[in-house]
Amino acid sequence: MYLICNVYIISVQLSILRMSSIESLGQKILLGTSGWDYEDWVGPFYVSNERKLSLYSQVFKTVEIDSTFYSFPTPNFIRGISRIVPKDFKFSVKLPKEITHKKLLDVKEGALDDLNRFLHILSPLEEDGKLGALLIQMPPKEKYLMFKNFKEFISDIDVERYDFVAEFRDKSWLDDEVLKLLRAYKVSFCVVDEPLLPPLLEVTGRIAYVRWHGRGNRPWYYYEYREEELVEWVPRLVKLVQDVEVLYGYFNNHFRGYAPKNALQMLKLLGIANTSQEEVLKQVLGYFDKQFVNHIKERGSDVLSKDDLNLMLSLFIDKRRLERAIEDIDKVRVTEIGCEIICGTVKEYVFEISLKEKRIFHDCEDWKKRASAKQFCKHIGSVLLYLSKEISINILKDIIRNIDDWTFQTS
Ligand SMILES: [Zn+2]
Repeated sequence: MYLICNVYIISVQLSILRMSSIESLGQKILLGTSGWDYEDWVGPFYVSNERKLSLYSQVFKTVEIDSTFYSFPTPNFIRGISRIVPKDFKFSVKLPKEITHKKLLDVKEGALDDLNRFLHILSPLEEDGKLGALLIQMPPKEKYLMFKNFKEFISDIDVERYDFVAEFRDKSWLDDEVLKLLRAYKVSFCVVDEPLLPPLLEVTGRIAYVRWHGRGNRPWYYYEYREEELVEWVPRLVKLVQDVEVLYGYFNNHFRGYAPKNALQMLKLLGIANTSQEEVLKQVLGYFDKQFVNHIKERGSDVLSKDDLNLMLSLFIDKRRLERAIEDIDKVRVTEIGCEIICGTVKEYVFEISLKEKRIFHDCEDWKKRASAKQFCKHIGSVLLYLSKEISINILKDIIRNIDDWTFQTS
């Protein structure tokens, strides 16, 4: 899977290179997160609670302001944030719920007056060239309940001056009539990654806009995208950006710092991460690796008190990989087994577990990604399920007791 993904990424990246230079692609695809002011990003992303936006804007070139959904911002807030960020930074801004959810975009209820008041407050961003897109996030209502209001509203907004984007939250809106309307009024369609709606890759305005909400349960955004899930988006973003001036993309899965991590990973997968983004990504990944090791240390003594192989394995391997490990038990071939060393293969991959040197060597792609976090791939899971329970528990106990001394080695 990973090999296929990597080959695929390389071929996609080559086609990107053919299409345009990486630099211009980096200028056209602006990725960031929804919001920046989260306490639980201190650690994985921020070093302290101070100067968050300033630090954020040294890493990313854009952010989506979500707080404006809950209440109109103050002019001071807008002037303040504009002063903090670099010249080429862009803020995309979500329309207040007063307009979208309370007045349901009804022009007769004063939705346009509210919009004009909102735009006036945002004017310092516009004057400074730092205003990105304006997000009209629709309430999760069926099309027939709001289509008339929506049509009237977008026919009256200034689409030449502003980049408006519409995000729909109900499947009934995803039809030709709506897309035609968006094209007619140059309002961009918001592409989403979320559990309820498909990622419809439509371009209807000057810009493309993508929101990654997460794929979790209650709430969706408590979710960490796996690399293979991000890889799916590489060709999609390349396709979207071909027909637009700029593509804005925001990760909304903000819990525990997953959003900045995934945004940086996406920039890297696209081949457009700059040196400082690569550096920050390394730090973020290092932080998450350390969390795994800390978890093993914290849970270690409790787990060691029970002679339960599955419980011990659960410190090193997630449920999904464990299921695959069980499927592949019969692919394990042991070529040498002694009290100090166990060697063999799982399919085309080799493994060597040295109790004496406290070292596991293995050579699959997943292992390479997980070794620094002291986590197992499915093959090492298969090996430990294949060996006698006594031997496996013995190995795992040694690793849990001496986690800092064990080396997870790669080729
Ligand atoms: Zn492996």
